[in-house]
Amino acid sequence: TQSTVIITGASSGLGLATAQALARTGEWHVIMACRDFLKAERAAKSAGMPKGSYTVMHLDLASLESVKQFVDNFRRSGRPLDVLVCNAAVYFPTEKQPRFSAEGIELSVATNHLGHFYLARLLLEDLQHKKTDTNRRLIIVGSITGNTNTLAGNIPPKANLGDLRGLAGGLNGVQSSAMIDGGEFDGAKAYKDSKVCNMLTMQEFHRRYHKQTGITFASLYPGCIATTGLFREHIPLFRTLFPPFQKYITKGYVSEEESGKRLAQVVSDPKMTKSGVYWSWNNDSNSFENQLSEEASDADKALKLWEISEKLLELD
Ligand code: NDP
Repeated sequence: TQSTVIITGASSGLGLATAQALARTGEWHVIMACRDFLKAERAAKSAGMPKGSYTVMHLDLASLESVKQFVDNFRRSGRPLDVLVCNAAVYFPTEKQPRFSAEGIELSVATNHLGHFYLARLLLEDLQHKKTDTNRRLIIVGSITGNTNTLAGNIPPKANLGDLRGLAGGLNGVQSSAMIDGGEFDGAKAYKDSKVCNMLTMQEFHRRYHKQTGITFASLYPGCIATTGLFREHIPLFRTLFPPFQKYITKGYVSEEESGKRLAQVVSDPKMTKSGVYWSWNNDSNSFENQLSEEASDADKALKLWEISEKLLELD
């Protein structure tokens, strides 16, 4: 029997490459959780994913109502859940003004962090079914850019959640700042901050639920996939120069296909069941347990982030 994996943002880039790698094995049924149904369906077809190896289900992470509906739809499908991959993200590096989610929350943190936090909290229950005895996993895609202990993470503006006062205020840009630390809006920083939230959330899930549920909680940095849609909002010169820069100067470049293989490994490799780990790969494509920056591994901050996020989503 096939195992079931939900991948958010599987309509392009890393998510699509991972869906493709898993569908090809014949051992996985991929639920492509996407905001653009047609785009996802076309992407699956052009990636050559066999019919019956995937289902596209609508999910817009920038709307909590949509997240709730997605969970209901998934439950109605009757499939037991084995792995959830929180992969989707938006990035607005050149934006001068914040954009907002359906609930009026700054869009990059709302999509990348809060939408996924809500989804993962709801689906935690589904990951605990007793129908099969597979190793269940909850994977949240992280990034080097939120890690200030790396070269890439030190390119300004650096990630910094501060005391989370902006998040506590709802990131609405009216009564409170649209930035987590309460500062002035900066699209590139908002993305990096949201990735720090992703890595902190993974660790807090691990501390709260790993022992009790046996679920593996993991994050990863898949490498710099300089060709994906993530950079679609960047200036044209950046989009031209970024891939060769990563390929020849930083040597951090990976193809979409290789990054998909890496994430597919974290989903399915029987050797990667350790929980609480942030995976990375060396230049020979061998995986290793990487170190997170001080902020991205701060347990007090993780707890505070969890509690403020619960409050914002009215989950507490
Ligand atoms: P892409 O832009 O190619 O993929 C992002 C996906 O997220 C798209 O499928 C997009 O959907 C989806 N998405 C965006 N907003 C929403 C939403 N509101 N609801 C549902 N889905 C949404 O970028 P990547 O593949 O590069 O990014 C994937 C992950 O990898 C991200 O978490 C990113 O932070 C991480 N990452 C990427 C790196 C890189 O170098 N590219 C490096 C490190 C980490 P749509 O197709 O409809 O736009």
